[in-house]
Amino acid sequence: MRKSEDTRNDRRLEHFRTVAREAGLKLTHQRLEIFRELAGTEEHPDAETIFRAVQQRMPTVSLDTVYRTLWTLHDLGLVTTLGPRREGVRFDANLDRHHHFSCVRCGLVRDFESAELDGLRVPDSVRRLGSVADAHVEVRGLCATCQRDRRTSRDPKPPATRGERR
Ligand SMILES: [Zn+2]
Ligand SMILES: [Zn+2]
Repeated sequence: MRKSEDTRNDRRLEHFRTVAREAGLKLTHQRLEIFRELAGTEEHPDAETIFRAVQQRMPTVSLDTVYRTLWTLHDLGLVTTLGPRREGVRFDANLDRHHHFSCVRCGLVRDFESAELDGLRVPDSVRRLGSVADAHVEVRGLCATCQRDRRTSRDPKPPATRGERR
């Protein structure tokens, strides 16, 4: 792991400890490991992916615990989500203002920052639909790997369904 990632993860973990303490949330080993897993990845994983990863280190953890923990973290403002609140929703521990690139083929999601996009104004027409909590831009396309695959493969794989929910 690169040094900058170490620092970033430490900062996220420190913030987690502070918020949890203030909210009176017990810092159990399981909660810490679940948060650590999410804080250490750029994959924007869903609950099952996090479950499979932490299960390697904690065989006794249940998928239900992972779900409940992630939504607790979400309600404390420690993580955000992509997509509507339901099964398959993906979690994000990056609380800095950012936008997403998502691959329509493999479901890869990556963060990027843009001062220009941060400055976009939400049109008034949106307020007729409901109140606005935040806004970010999702850029969709083919990731570099999928682009390469498509060029080199004569027999393209069918598109993955993961991450496609529109
Ligand atoms: Zn891709
Ligand atoms: Zn993100």
